[in-house]
Amino acid sequence: MKFVFATRNKHKVTEIQLLIPAPIRVLSLHDVNCMEDIPETTPTIEGNASQKAYYVYEKYHHNCFADDTGLEIEALGGKPGVKSARYAGDESDSEKNIAKVLTELEGIANRNARFKTVISLVIDGREVQFEGTIYGTILDERRGEKGFGYDSIFAPLNHPHTFAEMDLEEKNKISHRALAVNKLVEYLNKLA
Ligand code: IMP
Repeated sequence: MKFVFATRNKHKVTEIQLLIPAPIRVLSLHDVNCMEDIPETTPTIEGNASQKAYYVYEKYHHNCFADDTGLEIEALGGKPGVKSARYAGDESDSEKNIAKVLTELEGIANRNARFKTVISLVIDGREVQFEGTIYGTILDERRGEKGFGYDSIFAPLNHPHTFAEMDLEEKNKISHRALAVNKLVEYLNKLA
């Protein structure tokens, strides 16, 4: 079984490669000569995952999966949500995104948040989606150097460390993306 993983995010590729067993071959966008930006223009995480997977399937004629992830913060009414990548502006800068979140949460006691990943799998034109959600809290300041995106300000519930303080193996045991990928793998194993 061969699938394109529709992402240019090297961190996501590394995370997912550790979770997907060898018989399932994961191709990159580069492998299929897809060099352009893939549109992510829908108003939902589900919609964006679907849009990315169908884009590659229809244009490059490969079965494909795509992940879309959002950080949803309770006190901000679910923001940044689907806008997580470009919360502080168009250039998709994680440092600026984190700074904006921390400023907006200044003085707010409710730090509840969740990461939600939706993976859209398109095989032979048919789509299935898998979701993974992890609940946690947003810290007052960054902690840890590992990971990417919002990892340094998110501590999973009942966990002493942020994602950015964890080794990848540890993040991969509990993360939103791992939960969604494990469901994807279970589904693919049933097809094999
Ligand atoms: P997208 O799924 O690539 O559109 O990601 C949306 C935003 O969430 C980007 O700013 C990412 O850096 C961030 N993000 C996605 N996955 C994670 C994660 O596992 N940890 C922290 N931030 C993430």
